[in-house]
Amino acid sequence: MREEDVETPALLLDLDAFEHNLDTMAAFLAPTGAKLRAHAKTHKSAVVAMAQMRRGAIGQCVQKVGEAEALAWGGIPDILVSNEVVGPKKLARLLALSGIAKLALCVDGLEQIAAAEAAAEAANHRLSVLVEIDVGGARCGVRPGPEAVALAERIAASPHLRFGGLQAYHGSAQHIRGLEERGAAIAQAAEDSRRTVEQLRQRGLDCPIVGGAGTGTFGFEVASGIYTEIQAGSYAFMDADYARNTTPPPFRHSLFVLATVMSRAVPGVAVVDAGHKAIPTDSGYPTLWERPGLRYTGASDEHGKIEIGDGAAPALGEKLRLVPGHCDPAVDRYDWYVGVRKGRVECLWPIAARGAMQ
Ligand code: PLP
Ligand code: MN
Repeated sequence: MREEDVETPALLLDLDAFEHNLDTMAAFLAPTGAKLRAHAKTHKSAVVAMAQMRRGAIGQCVQKVGEAEALAWGGIPDILVSNEVVGPKKLARLLALSGIAKLALCVDGLEQIAAAEAAAEAANHRLSVLVEIDVGGARCGVRPGPEAVALAERIAASPHLRFGGLQAYHGSAQHIRGLEERGAAIAQAAEDSRRTVEQLRQRGLDCPIVGGAGTGTFGFEVASGIYTEIQAGSYAFMDADYARNTTPPPFRHSLFVLATVMSRAVPGVAVVDAGHKAIPTDSGYPTLWERPGLRYTGASDEHGKIEIGDGAAPALGEKLRLVPGHCDPAVDRYDWYVGVRKGRVECLWPIAARGAMQ
């Protein structure tokens, strides 16, 4: 099938650009001490995860137990829930995967450690647990230093748990536009992590993993020498918001929402069949791929408004590639990636963890 025959709205994956992105990250990390544990919150697919692992990724991160289930049953052998998991049912579901995958999760309090110990004991399994530290993102995580060390000691003293390391992701640094300020934010995060690792060592605790980093900052975490695992996710696809960083990351747009022009009734305007339900706008409206002069300026549930400036106006029925402002929630709206190469459909990949938010 040709790309222009694909029914819309559809999620397109340009395979040449996607493979370029995976190869670029693998080549960047290969000579460093850091490994890729790519974040599956972005792609939600064991097929994409496998493509990353074939290029040297050591495992995957997920945010949700449901994502862990989709990946483990899809054959991914090593999964870190880079997030807190609260509630005995969710913990039991996670531990039920321990026969088919190596698992770890994060905590930022004593209660979560007690709950993880109880769940691991019930499952008769030794679970790896990381302490999440707040390195500036101001989301989850205890303060670096003594508070984190106290949690690590409690984990190490729990018979069914193993201290896995530190989760030190700085989320709000990813989209700081200026490269220098982004670097300064990660320098602080790396220093916080380094200090905590040192204090752990003084208490006789080895810290096997220091994990963090995203598509906007991974070069800084790698350069720090303290991070052992890089958790970038969006790098595989890129999005319009990452492209707005000054010195944007060295990846190509590989993910698009394909939309059809459904109305040309109003002069200077084209209406497409991709609105809020087809493409997220939390990080700004989508941009148009290789159509200078066209601007997406408004969305309702099922409609997207495109203003026509200079350049060729799109015809009724014409298909346009939209670059999502934010790739992760765009993926979560679709059941399939439609993989295209040089204008032809090559594959359909299931987005198995679509909607897996529990
Ligand atoms: N690690 C964690 C814990 C995250 O929450 C995220 C994204 O929010 C990432 C890594 C990946 O970031 P990105 O998709 O920007 O590469
Ligand atoms: Mn994101």
